[in-house]
Amino acid sequence: MGGVGDRDRGGAGGVGIAEGGRLLTYSPAVTLVPTYECFNRCSYCNFRVEPGGDRWLPLDVAAERLKSLQGQGIAEILILSGEVHPASARRGEWFTHLYNLCGLALSLGFLPHTNAGPLTRSEMGALGSVNSSMGLMVEQVTPVLLETVHRHAPSKVPSVRLEQLEMAGELKIPFTTGLLIGLGETWADRAETLGAIASSHGRHGHIQEVIVQPYLPGTRQVGSAPGCDRAALLETVALAREILPPEVVVQVPPNLLGDRGTLLAAIAAGARDLGGIGPIDEVNPDYGHVSPAQLQTWLAAEGWTLQPRLAVYPQYDGWVSGAVRPVLAAWRSRLAAAEIVGPAPGPRLGPTVGSATAPATDAMRFH
Ligand code: SF4
Repeated sequence: MGGVGDRDRGGAGGVGIAEGGRLLTYSPAVTLVPTYECFNRCSYCNFRVEPGGDRWLPLDVAAERLKSLQGQGIAEILILSGEVHPASARRGEWFTHLYNLCGLALSLGFLPHTNAGPLTRSEMGALGSVNSSMGLMVEQVTPVLLETVHRHAPSKVPSVRLEQLEMAGELKIPFTTGLLIGLGETWADRAETLGAIASSHGRHGHIQEVIVQPYLPGTRQVGSAPGCDRAALLETVALAREILPPEVVVQVPPNLLGDRGTLLAAIAAGARDLGGIGPIDEVNPDYGHVSPAQLQTWLAAEGWTLQPRLAVYPQYDGWVSGAVRPVLAAWRSRLAAAEIVGPAPGPRLGPTVGSATAPATDAMRFH
C-alpha cells in the first residue's frame, strides 16, 4: 500500500487519497519500553542495559502515560523491548508483562505493535492475539556478522530471524521487518536478505512493509560497526523496491536520513513510508525525529502529501483478532474522517533506567 504512480494502490490506512496522488505515509506512534535489559550484546547497540540492571515499566505507570496520550491522534503504541533469555527463570514473567502491556494499550483504545525479539510459537501466537501487527528486523542473513557485530548476540543468528518470519506467516500475523545496513555486509548480502524476505512473503503473504534502516553511530554504544553512507542507503532502497513484491511497502526512517534532499532521493528510489513518528526513536536516541508538520513542509514543495496510517495495513484487517477489531474499526473511522494528526515531540516514555542515559533495543526501530 501507499504507492505512487505505477505503484499506487489506493493509499495508506484506507484514507481517501486522490487517484494518482503523490502519497507518503507514517504512523503516529509512541513507544513504550517494558525493559531495556537485553541478554544480547550487539556491538552497535544504543539501547540495552545489562540483565537485572533495569526496573521494568510498571503497569500502573504505563496506564497513566497511555491515558495522557488519549485524544492526541496517536494510534500506535510500539511495545519495544529488550530480551530476557529464553532459558531464564524470568522469561515467563517478562512475557506476561509484554502481554499485559498490549492488553492495557488495547483497553485504552490504542493499537499495539510489538517488537520484542525472537519468540516461541506459543509466545508469538499469544501476543498476536493482542497486537494489530508485530515486527522483527531480519537485519542481514549473512552468518559473517556472527563473527563481528553479532558475536555476542544469539538472537541475531540469521536462521532464528528467518524462522520468526515463517512463524508469523503461519500464524497470520501482519508483519514488519527490515534490513539494518552498514554492519559490514556486502551488496550480495543485502540482496540475499531481501530475497529471503520476499520468499517468506511469497509463501505467506504477511509482510506489510520492509524497513531500510541505516546503522548510524550513537553515543551509548560500547562497540562499533562499519556504518552506512548516503549512496549505500539510497541504492539499498532501490534494490529493495526491485526485489520485493509491489504490495510490500519500503519504509525509511526520516530521522536517520540526515536532510530533506536525502529523504526526497529515498522517495525517488522507491520509499513510500516513514514508519512510526513520535517523541523519541528509542533505538537511535541520538537522532531526533523531524515532526510530521516539518516533513509535510519538505514534501509539499515536491508535490507529496504526508498521510497518517495505522500499524496494520488495510489488506490485513481481516487477520486481526476479535480483541483488536473494535479498536481498529474505531481508528479506521477516525482516519476516514481525517481526525488523526501526528504527535508533537514530547517526553520519553519508558522505565527509569539505571543510568542517566538511555539505551536502545532490538535493532528494530519501529517500530
Ligand atoms: S540491538 Fe537489540 S538484540 Fe542487540 S543488544 Fe541491543 S537490544 Fe539487544
